[in-house]
Amino acid sequence: MTPLSIRVNERDNVAIIVSPEGVAGGVEFPGGLLARERIPQSHKIALRDFEAGAPIVRYGEIIGHAINAIPSGSWVREDMLDLPVAPPLDRLGLATAIPAALPPIEGRTFDGFRNPDGSAGTRNILGITTTVQCVAPTVDYAVRRIKTELLPRFPNVDDAIAVTHTYGCGVAIDAPGAAIPIRTLKHISMHANIGGKPLIVSLGCEKLQPQRLFSSDLPIFDGNNVIRLQDQRGFAETVSVILEAAEKRLAELNRRQRQTCPASSLVVGLQCGGSDAFSGVTCNPAVGYAADLLVRAGATVLFSEVTEVRDAIHLLTPRAASEQVARDLIREMNWYDEYLARGEADRSANTTPGNKRGGLSNIVEKAMGSVAKAGSTAIMSVATHGEKVTNKGLVFAATPASDFICGTQQLASMNMHVFTTGEGTPYGLALVPVIKVSSRTALAEKWHDLIDLDAGRIATGEATIQQVGEELFEFILAAASGKKKTWAEHWHLQNALAPFNPGPVT
Ligand code: CA
Repeated sequence: MTPLSIRVNERDNVAIIVSPEGVAGGVEFPGGLLARERIPQSHKIALRDFEAGAPIVRYGEIIGHAINAIPSGSWVREDMLDLPVAPPLDRLGLATAIPAALPPIEGRTFDGFRNPDGSAGTRNILGITTTVQCVAPTVDYAVRRIKTELLPRFPNVDDAIAVTHTYGCGVAIDAPGAAIPIRTLKHISMHANIGGKPLIVSLGCEKLQPQRLFSSDLPIFDGNNVIRLQDQRGFAETVSVILEAAEKRLAELNRRQRQTCPASSLVVGLQCGGSDAFSGVTCNPAVGYAADLLVRAGATVLFSEVTEVRDAIHLLTPRAASEQVARDLIREMNWYDEYLARGEADRSANTTPGNKRGGLSNIVEKAMGSVAKAGSTAIMSVATHGEKVTNKGLVFAATPASDFICGTQQLASMNMHVFTTGEGTPYGLALVPVIKVSSRTALAEKWHDLIDLDAGRIATGEATIQQVGEELFEFILAAASGKKKTWAEHWHLQNALAPFNPGPVT
């Protein structure tokens, strides 16, 4: 079989091995390049001789400098490059290359559940919010009974879930960082997929009192939607009280019907996890193409993961729709640089052993691939950690790159989730459908009942970025309408919520 490699940008002086089994030493590529040694799939091959200190270029950007001389045809591994300094934040182009608006796509819709606040649900779920971990096992117990005893009587309701988490007490709740988990949990409690209205179980003595959780939205307390466990008598009676409140809410939710909603009611969160060197060539550009289609259809698209954007920031601030949006991007980069520095870490802490096994040498290479998810449109606004996004178009919603924390923070806004992966992860969330897109066909075949869409066909030439992007766009609309289920939904794969608490624990 002809050995295959892929080069993304004409300035690149390394290429990625496409052949599933890798290549053996001595193998000759079309064009005459000889592999000097065995190189695994998705790893880099040197396209020319490098002297020590020479820049290694991928995606048209310098991802590192050769520590020692590297002959042409060598396997370029992470320990052979040094990490370049991150782009300085004080001399970036601010809104200097704002992309022209792409032609709008009119008339695309999905069948969703309309909410009084103007949002639309993609699922109809009974969600019981908790203010503190102390009540989580009780609510979990109640939800198990709700599912078996009540839910079957309410056919229009898709699921019942306990919105549990580890925040709420034992924390310095007046520290500045505490605002992040609190606003994240507040927005999740009023999620579009649970009808925009919370049902809350509180302990009673916790620091995160319901009034504090919903500070600016006090009218939501109508007397029936907060249950304080310390006001109840015994466990069995407490559970009965939760079941009674749940039954009332289920009756309300059951009256909801799917209605035609414009595609502009979609808020799609993009994320990657377990990335490999193909991610930036196949799945992420395909997701970027779908992101452009969504933006053209009027939807909101969130890209996130500060540490995977930081090294590509010089490519993003010029794309900001205004100088203010560019400054907001820089504000979020600065905040995270300082946060990492306080923990005596830096951005190199991002890459995992799996990333490296998948051929990603360092965070620069990972970031260049990661931002491909953001497509090509102007960045319309920036949301800080856990903030609810109200703008349309492409939005940077700041989050850590950790899959669970990023997903939790995006839940403050998103009603659909797209997750790309190279190494593979069975990740899923209880509140929104998670569409998983693989970077390689081998993963999609191995995990045939976990991966929803195979973007690996792009590397082998069986499909184009555009084709996979269009497939994903249609998949999003069908899944949002409930006409398609994701594999994560099929298996009920629901990762725990993980609110980001940069504040001190007491
Ligand atoms: Ca991630």
